[in-house]
Amino acid sequence: MENKGIDCLICYGEYENKHGGISCSQDHFCCQDCFGNMAQDMFEHSQTKIPAKCFECQEELNKDQVLKLMDSTKVGLYKLYCARTEIDPKSQKVQKCPYCTYYEIWDINNNSHIFYCQEDSCRKVCCFICNRKLKVASSSKDKESIEVQEEVLSHSKCAAFLTMQADWETAMSPGQQRKCPGCGLGGTKDEDCTKMTCVRCSTLWCYICGMSEAQVERESVDSNFGQHFLGWETNSKRCPKKLTYIAKVDKRWDSEDEEANTEYFHKILQYKAMREFFSEYTEEQFQNLCEIVPEAKDYLDKIEEVMTMDLELIKR
Ligand SMILES: [Zn+2]
Ligand SMILES: [Zn+2]
Ligand SMILES: [Zn+2]
Ligand SMILES: [Zn+2]
Ligand SMILES: [Zn+2]
Ligand SMILES: [Zn+2]
Repeated sequence: MENKGIDCLICYGEYENKHGGISCSQDHFCCQDCFGNMAQDMFEHSQTKIPAKCFECQEELNKDQVLKLMDSTKVGLYKLYCARTEIDPKSQKVQKCPYCTYYEIWDINNNSHIFYCQEDSCRKVCCFICNRKLKVASSSKDKESIEVQEEVLSHSKCAAFLTMQADWETAMSPGQQRKCPGCGLGGTKDEDCTKMTCVRCSTLWCYICGMSEAQVERESVDSNFGQHFLGWETNSKRCPKKLTYIAKVDKRWDSEDEEANTEYFHKILQYKAMREFFSEYTEEQFQNLCEIVPEAKDYLDKIEEVMTMDLELIKR
């Protein structure tokens, strides 16, 4: 058979052979330039677009081939993003050096707070809790030396805050996003509808109660997910399809501005989580945490509001 070359499916340019480009197992070919453009978009939407997929059939592209085409400055980052999708989030976590793209896959119960970067060009040692670099340890070749041990020990007071800091982060997370009940991917409602489809695992779920289609069907008498969005005005197990609808029964919500409602919704979720946090820790403990997590200071004067605000989502 005569070799007629191969066309790039994106720019329609004709190429003599597949070298310099990338193709999936079905021979959908994408040239080097087009891949370069795609890569940029990929890093901007890393949560959904990495690992790279075939432009035509969405098949996952061979990682080694992708890395060969990738700009050398992006290789480390690409590997890191891939690792995040390759681990089992129930038992593993990706622990990244704060100063470079070096990472290690840790057991989820590994709570070490001192991280030793093994990347030759970096080799920094840092404390995950106070986010500070350990100066002596980072420049020392001898990790067992007394000076290094002393510096590591000086961060043991940070370790005392490990659980508290993790609890604080958990309390802050509902402020911006909600997680897909299927795969845990965090997302924020963009369109005006509260019925969500996860871009990663295709789970259908409800943004308001956070339940998946399967959970709704298991835990209620609703025969299909569509019913979950009907009759919510009187049934507290059901949810409205738009946040603006809530204004019909509860005037605290806006009847037109969905964006303002989304903000209000997240504020309630976050305050609920924060209330839980502040019922476990004293204000004094929290002030100590603020020394280590300076961003937390912004919430010092909100404690009273958090503890007293009416956090009922919908007054029916
Ligand atoms: Zn092309
Ligand atoms: Zn393909
Ligand atoms: Zn590093
Ligand atoms: Zn520290
Ligand atoms: Zn998902
Ligand atoms: Zn719901």
